[in-house]
Amino acid sequence: MTIAASATELRTSMKEEREATGPPPTRKAFADFHIHTRFSRDSILTEETFIRKAIERGLTHVAVTNHNNVEGAIAVREKVAELGVGDQLTVILGEEVSTADGEVVGVFLTKTIPRGLSANETADEIHRQGGLVSIPHPFDPFRGSHIKEGPLRNLAEVGKIDMLEVFNCRVTFQRHNLEAAEFANRYGIPGIAASDSHSGFEVAMAFNALPTFESADELKAILPQNNWHASRSTVFIHATTRWAVWKNMFDAWRGRRTATGPILGPQAPEQVRREPVQRPTGAELPPKEKADE
Ligand SMILES: [Zn+2]
Repeated sequence: MTIAASATELRTSMKEEREATGPPPTRKAFADFHIHTRFSRDSILTEETFIRKAIERGLTHVAVTNHNNVEGAIAVREKVAELGVGDQLTVILGEEVSTADGEVVGVFLTKTIPRGLSANETADEIHRQGGLVSIPHPFDPFRGSHIKEGPLRNLAEVGKIDMLEVFNCRVTFQRHNLEAAEFANRYGIPGIAASDSHSGFEVAMAFNALPTFESADELKAILPQNNWHASRSTVFIHATTRWAVWKNMFDAWRGRRTATGPILGPQAPEQVRREPVQRPTGAELPPKEKADE
């Protein structure tokens, strides 16, 4: 685990490490499990820009985790296929779900999980889809959307957390990342670093160096070997997120087609609770047998 002095230094070290593993497809994975694109209303990052920067900077695996939809991840995966760079970048379908208890990330999903379920129900649905549960920035008080401590502890106690962000580049004060690391350590949960990119500038500000993997089960098995590296975003990075929200709203108002149009952005848990929650019907959910294999 290292924390680089700057993003440039981090990317240089990733490039060197990656070049040492040989040409793609590499035997080693350089993965980021928390990335937003224009399918989040606080981001305007296009699929193409994201893919170009991710490959240029040495990432091999990315979980695209837009707020409350996997469609954004599907769009990145389709663009990768269209550009013919599938041997260089593996796209994992993910979602950062606004649960009634705060945000929970699912990776290796097959379909969108509706927002507003409890953290526990959301974790169960992620596992039912064959995915892994990741907890984003759990102790960052500057984001009202982080998971509440009670539900977090409950999930940890019943072993429903597969990985936890012990370093999120957007966390303002390091002690909150440290708190996350201590929590993960206490419960024996593998820690990961996440860029939580919302703009091109932030792509590859963190990476997890792992033996290469293809499925959720394989990733789960190798996560304890994770060696993560990260650098920090400046506090000002949050200004770009606010700007993206306004730009997306303005474009929608002008009648421009934006990817975020039909999609609800990050909501405070209070807001989620006040609004009617549409739960998936039994028919919409994958068959139960698939749950525990
Ligand atoms: Zn996020």
